[in-house]
Amino acid sequence: MEGSRKKDQGNNGIPDIFLPFAAEEVAESLLDWYGLAGRDLPWRQTRDPYRIWLSEIMLQQTTVAAVVGYYQRFLESFPNVTALAEASLAEVIDLWAGLGYYARARNLHAAANILVADYQATFPDSVEGLMQLPGIGRSTAGAIAALAFDQQVPILDANVRRILCRLFALQEPSRLSSAEKKLWAWAELLTPQQRVHDYTQAIMDLGALVCLPRNPLCSECPLKDLCQARCSGLEQQLPLKQPGKQVPQRHAMALLIHRQERYLVRRRPTSGFLGGLWEFPSIDFGAEDFVETQMARLMADHAVCGNPQRLGSINHVYSHFRLDLQLFQLAIDDLSQIGETDTESNWCSLTQLKTLALHGAHQKALEYLGE
Ligand code: SF4
Repeated sequence: MEGSRKKDQGNNGIPDIFLPFAAEEVAESLLDWYGLAGRDLPWRQTRDPYRIWLSEIMLQQTTVAAVVGYYQRFLESFPNVTALAEASLAEVIDLWAGLGYYARARNLHAAANILVADYQATFPDSVEGLMQLPGIGRSTAGAIAALAFDQQVPILDANVRRILCRLFALQEPSRLSSAEKKLWAWAELLTPQQRVHDYTQAIMDLGALVCLPRNPLCSECPLKDLCQARCSGLEQQLPLKQPGKQVPQRHAMALLIHRQERYLVRRRPTSGFLGGLWEFPSIDFGAEDFVETQMARLMADHAVCGNPQRLGSINHVYSHFRLDLQLFQLAIDDLSQIGETDTESNWCSLTQLKTLALHGAHQKALEYLGE
């Protein structure tokens, strides 16, 4: 096997990189395999940057199986970037309900508005231009540039990151900045000049179908003779785990007010954390605060009277904190027991709640409501 040394052409600070094989071997092997085993997915038969962007955003931290239906429904409601920009954020979030990671929906809507206002509803065709838009990082920009515009640019999504960690037997957690530079440099060196579109889809498919997070199917892998992890028997150990990080603990309580089997929910303000999502009336409080005092505040906020009953508690991890959510329920007989508030609110059956864009912890609260 012949190694190769290539000049780094990016800004990643690695001037010279040694590859233990010829870079072309990877692309050739992957493209041959892709011709036989690649997936036929709804967003594969297009070069429309809008559709590619939509699919790439939906696929972040989400499986193909979960995305397909949402992708089709989104295109029916918002067939192009202008239609998406003209929709309200609330409409977009409600259509996104159930797909999770709602910041993606907010960023889609914000980016669509920028594209219409500043780019005449077209997309920039460079990685740098695409990265100016909300919610588009370097890898997503690379995917759009490669798939829609045939630019010779790399991607480094979770699948590709895992493949490269194994292919080069990377012995450090991949999110460290030193590892990040190496991974981008490798990704750049392996991306071929020709057939970038197919190569990009091929490497995504290899991660999804063969180089699996657990128990990679090395015997079926087109890269098995090149893979440094497999040659060293390390394919199960790599990638190395990221060091754990401490996240702060927060506390809140939610009051599930119900009447005739319908529950009161309200929409959060569209700007700010979890903006535009639905939730049960709730209040944040400190670890030292008395639950009774906070419940009195929460009930006063909603001008509701009655005797709340404790249901249980939920633990949920958001990106930058852990939430302990105490749950209470309160049955009311008629609407005179509750006052008007300024926030958008609704009374929903359990069936409706299950398809509503509730944010994570409040989604979990449905487990307490049963069938
Ligand atoms: S040989 Fe195994 S570990 Fe290496 S890239 Fe292929 S599937 Fe992944």
